[in-house]
Amino acid sequence: MSAGAHPLPALGVGDALSREAVLAWLRETDERRLDGLWGAADETRSRYVGDAVHLRGLVEVSNHCVRGCTYCGIRASNRGVERYRVPAGVVLDCARAARAYGYGTLVLQSGEDYGLETDWVVDVVRRVKEAAGLAVTLSLGERPDEDLAAWREAGADRYLLRFETSDEDLYRRIHPDLPGRVSDRLAILRTLQDLGFEAGTGIMVGIPGQTHASIADDIDLFRGMDMDMIGIGPFLPHPATPLGSEYERRRAAGDWPADQAANDELTTCKVVALTRLARPDANLPATTALSLVDKADGRAHGLQRGANVVMPNLTPPEYRVKYEIYPEKAAVHETAEAIAASIQGLLATLGRTVGEGAGGRPPARPD
Ligand code: SAM
Repeated sequence: MSAGAHPLPALGVGDALSREAVLAWLRETDERRLDGLWGAADETRSRYVGDAVHLRGLVEVSNHCVRGCTYCGIRASNRGVERYRVPAGVVLDCARAARAYGYGTLVLQSGEDYGLETDWVVDVVRRVKEAAGLAVTLSLGERPDEDLAAWREAGADRYLLRFETSDEDLYRRIHPDLPGRVSDRLAILRTLQDLGFEAGTGIMVGIPGQTHASIADDIDLFRGMDMDMIGIGPFLPHPATPLGSEYERRRAAGDWPADQAANDELTTCKVVALTRLARPDANLPATTALSLVDKADGRAHGLQRGANVVMPNLTPPEYRVKYEIYPEKAAVHETAEAIAASIQGLLATLGRTVGEGAGGRPPARPD
């Protein structure tokens, strides 16, 4: 500890990690003291979910979107986006590639696109499972309960829906409701659990107006929600979005609210590490956004500071370049094969193994 530094609250696991401790560690900037957080998160990760890293191949099946999320580059009103839907046959090719690379899961993600009809998704889920025997994760936005039930019935295993921030006012500002439909992602997550999905959620870190105190609330919420997966990535400003413009204006003027959380690698890693301590048995990805905010070390740091999942991109490059939710998405011009090789090389360097099978949430916890 540096001379004269205030003592930091002790780090505990699960309910033994107080909100006061979370907040103090989120605000901590001393790198040597933060080593204590990284060590505790890494040790907890190893003890509860092991050293295997689960690889989940990502296919960005459509960039059509009806929503107006102020942070997202594929929001409906962005006329600069050339829209696409990936044909089912191409999704199946991606599933076979996932199998060949040793991935246990195929993740199908898209904008909130009702042009992806319920039955089309049912058919794709069934065919992916038949052809490649993979677990299937869906991340298709706030679809009606009937759609979610049909997809579960077809065999989909998991569904990802981030609540983005637990600060209600901030959420309403960045994620406008559709006409006549109030967005209640927490209610949808409960429905997903009732339907028998493994449910995943998460947040962005460093949204303009998001404080450290608000992130401490997010971590408290993670603790209470019993989620199977929690994805945490930095907010990356997209210039063609309202929040991207607001970010630039604030950055130029130095106009940040008190206690504003940064959208950088360090803050994101703190949130990943503290989430590992709060929810020791959850599956936590080292997200693409984290690997992009620090191209040299982001992914490795994520894996060394609590994460145990990576989602390599399998989307064919001609579609991938159009799924620009934030600028310069990582590895946009790399082939799926090159991405697979680089992740496997990284895991070898870190002394981690590739997870076998579907890599669901582990059934039992230690002690
Ligand atoms: N439409 C689905 C949904 O909203 O859940 C899935 C696709 S959406 C693009 C997936 C995630 O991307 C969002 O939950 C959000 O956290 C993240 N995202 C979108 N724009 C981002 C940005 N500018 N910076 C960082 N993350 C972003």
